[in-house]
Amino acid sequence: MNGQKLTVEDLSNALKNDEFLFHYQPILSLRTGKIDGAEALIRWQKANGDLIPAAKFIPFAEETGFITEITKAMIAHFLDDQKKILQVDNTIVSSLNISAKDLSDDTFIPTLLNIIDYSGVDRSKIKLELTENSVLSFSNTGLLQIAELKANHIGLAIDDYGTGYATFEQLRNLPFTTLKIDYSITSDAMSTPDGLTLLDHSIKLAHQLNMDSVAEGVEDPDIIGYLMGIGCEHVQGYYISKPLGLATFIEFINQETVWNTFVHGHLYKAMVDYIEWVRKVHSSLYMSNANIRIVQFESENEPAGLFLREVTDSVNVLMYDELNTAYKKSYELAKIMLNAKSSGDQVIIDKLLPDFFAVSGAVNTLLQKAYSKECQHGLLKKGAFWDSSDGKSVDSPY
Ligand code: C2E
Ligand code: CA
Ligand code: CA
Repeated sequence: MNGQKLTVEDLSNALKNDEFLFHYQPILSLRTGKIDGAEALIRWQKANGDLIPAAKFIPFAEETGFITEITKAMIAHFLDDQKKILQVDNTIVSSLNISAKDLSDDTFIPTLLNIIDYSGVDRSKIKLELTENSVLSFSNTGLLQIAELKANHIGLAIDDYGTGYATFEQLRNLPFTTLKIDYSITSDAMSTPDGLTLLDHSIKLAHQLNMDSVAEGVEDPDIIGYLMGIGCEHVQGYYISKPLGLATFIEFINQETVWNTFVHGHLYKAMVDYIEWVRKVHSSLYMSNANIRIVQFESENEPAGLFLREVTDSVNVLMYDELNTAYKKSYELAKIMLNAKSSGDQVIIDKLLPDFFAVSGAVNTLLQKAYSKECQHGLLKKGAFWDSSDGKSVDSPY
């Protein structure tokens, strides 16, 4: 620091003098347009008032192993902060960065769980982030420990995805819930065609692994529109907000800003998903009974359906009501036909199939209409479309 080489003693003194604190960077949900998460990022507030970012001393702490002392000492700070944050907004899930070294001590997780329970903070409001590289070097102890976390409802994120070389096979066997796409992928995406492909693949990978995705390092709004289009769930970056001191972060969430995340991205995804779903329903009518059950299950959790329910619940727009009605009708018809298929009743299938295609055609048309309306209406803006003062939707553009 100040040109002098950092030593373990400096870090140890800083810890004794209670000079470390967390800043919180808001995480925006692209589903709801609301801030529903934050990442705790450590800062070193020196006695002379200087504020040192993590990047300046955490790599050294990692190299020397002193990171484990820092992590242990900072858990109590993190939980104290969470109590204050959750009092203001109990939907916020906060992430804590931990090091693979922390997990090499097999008392780390049981101790962490005890401290969390003692603090009274709901476990489901806490997420731990581990980098892709550290995940790849897990020992058996590390693996057992993260499995224990998952069993205890603590979220687990793979951080800096794209900076290591994790394969699908390796990630498939790990109990993570969130994939955080590294800044390098997000920032390259809009400047090169390969960059865009890599971003597409990363989000798709997250979904194939049943994880949700967070794109990190989002600095401009264009990428947000694109990310919505490919089904990314969350964004984090300077465009939304820089990391903020606790008091400022609390002020920030207190404003309850609803971002107009514009639904065109979700609509695009809903169109693609819907076409695929109709194809699956149709083909399963020719399949053996064992496969039908899979389609039935999927149809209940079908993304277009979930998406439409969310939209129609939140905005009072006639077109979406029509869309929802048509969607439900197509789902009902599919269900009856698939049941008829399992009981071998071909007459019902022959009778209902034309109706099914008519109504699913109507859903497609309405989805396309909604998509073009949403695209015309603009890009991500704060507040527009919503009157943030009372949370009700303002006049619809339709
Ligand atoms: P990270 O976990 O990937 O955290 C994100 C870093 O990117 C943060 O830097 C954040 O300030 C920065 N960032 C956020 N949005 C943007 C953006 O739009 N553009 C750009 N260029 N940067 C952005 P920070 O706070 O200096 O942290 C650096 C790294 O230090 C973190 O990277 C994390 O690996 C580590 N770290 C931070 N806090 C802790 C901690 O409490 N414990 C441990 N073990 N590591 C920590
Ligand atoms: Ca992180
Ligand atoms: Ca990261």
